[in-house]
Amino acid sequence: MPEGKPAGVPCIQLTADLRCALFGRPDRPAFCRGLQASAEMCGDNREQALAWLNRLEEQTRPDCAPARCQAQ
Ligand code: SF4
Repeated sequence: MPEGKPAGVPCIQLTADLRCALFGRPDRPAFCRGLQASAEMCGDNREQALAWLNRLEEQTRPDCAPARCQAQ
């Protein structure tokens, strides 16, 4: 996504079965290649993983003021 992926918007490379269409390809973004999943990130199930991602997206929103967003 040339302008970056806005929070709450699925990546355009995400397939219908929720896999990365660029996985293993050299044009996969460097950030994605470098991401190391952790137990904290994945949780015990899909709902916990999505909650972690939603929290991260909220905390890293460009318009997110530290006092309001970091405490969540
Ligand atoms: S790994 Fe990166 S390119 Fe692939 S679907 Fe996720 S955000 Fe998109």
